[in-house]
Amino acid sequence: MVKSHWVGEVQSGMYDDQEVELKGWIYRTRGSNKIRFIVLRDSTGTIQCVAKRDTVGDEIFEGLKGALIETSVILNGHVNVDERAPGGHEIVVSSATIVGSVNPENPFPITQSAMENADGGETEFLLDNRHLYLRTGRMTTMLKLRSSAFGAIHSYFRDSDFIEYQAPCFVAGAVEGGSTLFEVPYFGRKDVYLTQSWQLYAEAAMPALEKLYTIAPSFRAEKSRTRRHLTEFWHAEMEMAWAGNSDIMEHGEGLVRHIAQTFLDERTPELESLGRDLDLIARYADNPYPRMRYDEAVETLQGMSVDIEWGQDLDYSKEKILTQDFDVPHFLTHYPKVAKPFYHRVDPDDEKYVLCHDLLAPEGYGEIIGGGERTWSEEEILRRIDEEGTPRDAYEFYIDVRRFGGVPHGGFGLGVDRVISWLSGAEHIREVIPFPRDSRRVTP
Ligand code: ATP
Ligand code: MG
Repeated sequence: MVKSHWVGEVQSGMYDDQEVELKGWIYRTRGSNKIRFIVLRDSTGTIQCVAKRDTVGDEIFEGLKGALIETSVILNGHVNVDERAPGGHEIVVSSATIVGSVNPENPFPITQSAMENADGGETEFLLDNRHLYLRTGRMTTMLKLRSSAFGAIHSYFRDSDFIEYQAPCFVAGAVEGGSTLFEVPYFGRKDVYLTQSWQLYAEAAMPALEKLYTIAPSFRAEKSRTRRHLTEFWHAEMEMAWAGNSDIMEHGEGLVRHIAQTFLDERTPELESLGRDLDLIARYADNPYPRMRYDEAVETLQGMSVDIEWGQDLDYSKEKILTQDFDVPHFLTHYPKVAKPFYHRVDPDDEKYVLCHDLLAPEGYGEIIGGGERTWSEEEILRRIDEEGTPRDAYEFYIDVRRFGGVPHGGFGLGVDRVISWLSGAEHIREVIPFPRDSRRVTP
């Protein structure tokens, strides 16, 4: 049952002039009553296969002739090196078995052009048929990039001696503010939500593990539908004891550069198939990321006649303008205290600011990381919570962390889907996740 030959291996020249058994799906098919040209797809690529009636016999030939797109088949044949064939190889079929057929009354609904090109899952029809759209070349590519991104995040943190740690998904307090909280029915209670971030629970484990990370889903009731927001997204977060804003930024930069480098090492053909400029990705992997204070960003934007006042958070429209001409990601640091929640540590040098950072990706993509130093003394956290008018109850456990040997610490959250969207050059974040969730869609 297990496969012994893969299309990608054949196309790489591993089996030239040998017999192979390929298992996969019919990607395209055409031909006459005597000869069929079948493009076979498996998870590693596509290859042209030629079946002649004279060679395979009437029964097999008729089966192949009637087989529709996405029929699953096993093809046995000889590997011919053929410069004219896409990928440089062609299979001369000697025998074939149809494994799972497709009913002609209910053919595969996704058109050939959508299968091959870049409409990126944008149409409602393709979103409704997302379960089938996953098989298209573009989506398969995105899923492979995802796998490399997840692998890179794990390897970065593990190689830097971070411990993987899991926080709960049901929580009773907000991290990112009440407006994006998802309330869940919970045995009659009214104060239970889906987590927006692991941060508060990571801080609780900080005195135990000192350097910790996770990759987990976070949930936010984002009402405005934008090209960079999902309601369920994958969040890579880290927390680190004995660290300040600058130390945390070094890891943010290290991680993003490592993901870019991993894409180059593992996924060059995929990036090329998306039309991505590899020099750009290499630039993101090789160069340091400059740091800019919030004030400078506001001045820059005002100089570009953007309507922004000091004290406002930068929304996407502003980040887009600011990042349009960036050559590499830039950190924005020292946001005004009024723009950020209580857990951000106030800058001891100037109380108007907090010691935080956002990492903004170039090409107009904007924020991919949010992080900073945490308010770590009991006295300061109580003052900040009261200033904000936040009820203390839900945060008692969080304040406790400061009551028993508080230490300077900090961390960040990276939107994994956002990073993949940027590095792949996607138009919309939902192009890079198998089953995107937004305010209107939880199916399929
Ligand atoms: P934004 O202002 O863009 O909504 P945020 O400030 O709410 O982002 P953080 O709370 O700092 O974001 O979350 C950390 C990271 O998680 C962000 O930098 C981003 O990469 C990612 N992220 C946040 N919200 C979403 C979302 N709704 N969908 C996808 N990724 C998200
Ligand atoms: Mg947000």
